[in-house]
Amino acid sequence: MEVVLAEKCGFCAGVRVADKLVRLAAAKGLSGGILGQVVHNESVEEEMARLGFPTVSSLSEARSHAGRIVFSAHGVAPSVRAEARSLGLVAIDTTCKFVTDIHREIERSLEAGFFIAILGQVGHREVVGYTNDLDPGRYRVFYDLAEVRSFDWSSHPRVKVIFQTTINAETFSEHVTEIRHRAQETLIADTICYATKENQDALRVLCADPSIDAIVVIGGLYSKNTKELAKIAEESKRTFLIGVAAELDQETFRGMRKVGVSAGASTPDYDIESVVTALRAFGS
Ligand code: SF4
Repeated sequence: MEVVLAEKCGFCAGVRVADKLVRLAAAKGLSGGILGQVVHNESVEEEMARLGFPTVSSLSEARSHAGRIVFSAHGVAPSVRAEARSLGLVAIDTTCKFVTDIHREIERSLEAGFFIAILGQVGHREVVGYTNDLDPGRYRVFYDLAEVRSFDWSSHPRVKVIFQTTINAETFSEHVTEIRHRAQETLIADTICYATKENQDALRVLCADPSIDAIVVIGGLYSKNTKELAKIAEESKRTFLIGVAAELDQETFRGMRKVGVSAGASTPDYDIESVVTALRAFGS
């Protein structure tokens, strides 16, 4: 069985930096708590814990981990940074540069009097980081088109549209059209991350290949961008969404001649390599 790896897949630049910053700290003998997973991937989470940086669910928990807290690539709200300072915690901030840019964009847009329409998932850590400290009357997060349609736009004539970095732009194009119709002035901030788009585009190339029988997408349980990849693949191919190579079932691939592989932006190289190796072994 031939195994084809998507030309672009796996760790994005932001996640590579976050991963590196924690490793550098560990190499210096430091330890600390990571607020939520440093990236949405269980393999990385376990490895970080082995390096002395376990996941913690609150700032106060980090006190018992050398008083050091790591903010993930998803970023946090300014109030969380302030609280960490007030607790005397030392922060290692791995917030992705693109996420920081969006925080600034929102700040500038609010100052300019815009209502913020965030297209993304309520409760996603990146989105919580943007919205946690905002006046609830100045923004709204939309995921379903029906929510955009039923929202009362009459008191929001000027709207700035912000995208969660990892969403699929095509899924939300109708949302944008709808907002344009309803608001008097709509400005779009193109905040979808290029890394996500590159992984999606490379996957589409595999999906367009008629000789590929199935696609394996590798990524963490909570990785939104991995799920988006699986969704794209499912439209045209038999798709398997897995976390690690051990989840592959050889029987399922019997008779297949060519399998494509892609991975989310938070999937480490070693998980990708082990899946590719396992699939190739199935065919030998
Ligand atoms: S997917 Fe994009 S925005 Fe998110 S961490 Fe990676 S580079 Fe940054």
